[in-house]
Formats: sequence, C-alpha cells, structure tokens
Amino acid sequence: MGLVVQKYGGSSVADAEGIKRVAKRIVEAKKNGNQVVVVVSAMGDTTDELIDLAEQVSPMPSGREFDMLLTAGERISMALLAMAIKNLGHSAQSFTGSQAGVITDSVHNKARIIDVTPGRIRTALDEGNIAIVAGFQGVSQDKKDITTLGRGGSDTTAVALAAALDAEVCEIYTDVDGVFTADPRVVKKARKIDWISFEDMLELASSGSKVLLHRCVEYARRYNIPIHVRSSFSGLQGTWVSSESIEQGDQKVEQAIISGVAHDTSEAKITVVGVPDKPGEAAAIFRTIANAEINLDMVVQNVSAASTGLTDISFTLPKTEGRKAIDALERNRPGIGFDSLRYDDQIGKISLVGAGMKTNPGVTATFFEALSDAGVNIELISTSEIRISVVTRADDVPEAVRVVHTAFGLDSDSAEAVVYGGTGR
Ligand code: ADP
Ligand code: ASP
Ligand code: MG
Repeated sequence: MGLVVQKYGGSSVADAEGIKRVAKRIVEAKKNGNQVVVVVSAMGDTTDELIDLAEQVSPMPSGREFDMLLTAGERISMALLAMAIKNLGHSAQSFTGSQAGVITDSVHNKARIIDVTPGRIRTALDEGNIAIVAGFQGVSQDKKDITTLGRGGSDTTAVALAAALDAEVCEIYTDVDGVFTADPRVVKKARKIDWISFEDMLELASSGSKVLLHRCVEYARRYNIPIHVRSSFSGLQGTWVSSESIEQGDQKVEQAIISGVAHDTSEAKITVVGVPDKPGEAAAIFRTIANAEINLDMVVQNVSAASTGLTDISFTLPKTEGRKAIDALERNRPGIGFDSLRYDDQIGKISLVGAGMKTNPGVTATFFEALSDAGVNIELISTSEIRISVVTRADDVPEAVRVVHTAFGLDSDSAEAVVYGGTGR
C-alpha cells in the first residue's frame, strides 16, 4: 500500500462546496488503496482577513499572539474537511501542526521546521483513518509555543510530512493546472511545464512564483521527494518537480533551456545615501539589517563620486520588513554614518530562469532588448548561474513579463491557461 501526502491550498477549500469537492478527491485516493495524509490551508483569503483584523487592533502585529491568531485559519478548514470526509462514510481525524509533530525553531511568523515526529499520524493511518493536518504551523522546540512558517507555509508542511513519512509523492493541489512558464494570471499564453528540476523550481520560487514556496522546494530537494503540482478542480496531470526527468510515452522529458519568467511585487527598495566609501561601511549596514532578522534580496553599490568620497548603497527586501529595516538603520545612523535613507515600495522584479542559460550565449541581450522594446526602464540587475533578475517600476511588471515571455518563444499556441479559483491575493 502506498502513502501519499496531498496538500490543498486555500483556493481549493474556499467554501463549503470546495471542501466537499476536495473531500471526494481524498476519498478516491484512499479507495485506490493508498494511505492518505492531507495538509490543508486556511479557507480562501482567511489568513489575509485575520491579518487585516489584527492590524485594526495593533499597528504592526507580530510574535506569539499573531501566530496564535493565524493558525486558527487552518484549524477551521482541517476540522470541516474531516467532517466532510466522515459524511462520505470514511474515517478521518484532524491534527494541528503541533499534534502532527511539526517541531520548529522559535522565530515567530517565519519559523523553520527542525524536526517532524509524526507518531500520531502513523497511528491514525494504521487504524485506517485519513489524517488531516493543519498546514503552515508547528510548535517551537524550546518554548512549546505555537509558531507559523511564513506565508504560503502549508507547502512546506506537506513536503516535510512527506519526507518524515517516507511518502511516494507529495501532491500539491492548487487553482491552476501546474507550474507554468509564467503566472497564468498575467500571461494567458503561459504554457504548462510537464517536468522541472528542483534547481530551476527553486529559482522560480525564490523569484516570486508563489505556486510553490521556496522552502518547500528546498526541503523536497534535500530529501528527494518528488512533488506533483496539479489542480484540485480538474483531473489533468500537472507538473512534476523532481531530480530525475519523467518519461512521457517512451521518451524522457527534456530540460528546457529557459524554464520560465517569474515576477514579484512584494519587495521594496531602500537606498542608503551618502555612505563614506571606506572598508567596513557595507558591513555595518548589513550587520544592522541582519541583527533585525531581515532577509535581503538584491544589493547594489554605486561607484562613489571622486569629489565627495561618498557612495549610495541600494538593497531590496520584503515590503513587510520595510518599517523594521528603516527603524534599525536610523537607530544606528551615528555608528554607520550616512546622509539619508530613501524608501521605494513601487518596484517590481522580473526574473528569467533556466539552467540552459549557462551554455546559451545571448540570453541576457535578448532579455534586455525585449524590455527596451517595451520601453521598460531597468533600475537594478542581479544574476545567478541560471537566473537574470531586474528591478523595474511596479506598474511595468505585467507588460514586461509578457514581452520577455514572448521574446523567449515561451508563448503557447494552444489553449489559454486556466485559472480555476482564487482571488490572486
Ligand atoms: P494555494 O492557495 O493553492 O496555495 P497560491 O495562490 O499560493 O495557491 O498559488 C497558486 C497561484 O500561483 C496561481 O493561482 C498563480 O496565480 C500563481 N503563480 C505564480 N507563478 C506561477 C507559475 N509560474 N505557474 C503557476 N502558477 C503561478
Ligand atoms: N494560510 C497560509 C497563508 O495564506 C498558509 C498557506 O496557505 O500556505 O499564507
Ligand atoms: Mg500557496
């Protein structure tokens, strides 16, 4: 008997009808002879609504109580789903992250899983139940407080459980038919990818393709768990994310030169103006940011003006960390020494990802030409071996994604990509 882990995102369980639809799917998997563990997200936009509510009582909600609040969303859906399954004549038990043995560090709001001890899940399965686990949450090892894993964290719960239970596959059910060459909400001609390597998927995820969370892909790669991303609204095959390419017919699916175009409008840019151009300055700035537990993305230092000996340093970070970063830098201004700070949250990032760019010259040129033809100005550039990213004005992002997608021949010539649900929030 196989063991499968299935994860259903918020859009798949947005209302009572959705929960009943998903329950039927889960029962099918069980009837096919599998042991089934289900990880479920909060219904629809519940998490966003809880955040809005928290902000009405406290301007910058964070920490222990905020986590306590947010985990309530997943508790609602897990219990309703277990009830819907029972209604179909099958036994199911729901578990919070803590009950399921998801042990984390104690960094509230973005905790990391450090261990999974799924004893109760195993017992529930052995007794013939379908086990339903609340995604996105755990319990801290030292303080035993409830933690959350960061937005989109149910994906990570699913892969972590799949690894701990030695599952054959982790199925991620969402509101599109798989991983596409671009976000189907932005590019109607985006093409579904049949197979993508962990490496390319990691870059897409960390560049903003929220169909899979970066940490979840990292986890899957470490434990070599194949992920199948597919729609809970259709019966179609989705996208396989794995180390080994899949077979289709009697042929292996080839690695694409370019896997896709990702975009991200969740970041802001901070420019530290008038920094003395001497050793130790950048270190002081970024130590300040690190001490505030903020993760950076891109960093760019301008050439200093010979007349002043001063330079500017810009970096990007999640908008949600903007206030904290500005406060930390201002507090340390006397020690660091700079003139002023500029904060810009109207930026967007477009990234082209593909392992093939290592060996195909001209990719960067084609990328920049496409942006230039569309009149899109580039503000920052960063690259890795298999990715090129640029920062532009946020307003330019949708058009920029479309022109780059077309320039690399990624447009599909068959049907438009379908988005089955969700609000895109
Ligand atoms: P869920 O609620 O199931 O977790 P998410 O909203 O987190 O769903 O992720 C699914 C969404 O990811 C899609 O609706 C789509 O808009 C977005 N997305 C972004 N980039 C991609 C991509 N390359 N392929 C597929 N979907 C993408
Ligand atoms: N409900 C959480 C969120 O909206 C976790 C998840 O859906 O993965 O971020
Ligand atoms: Mg998600």
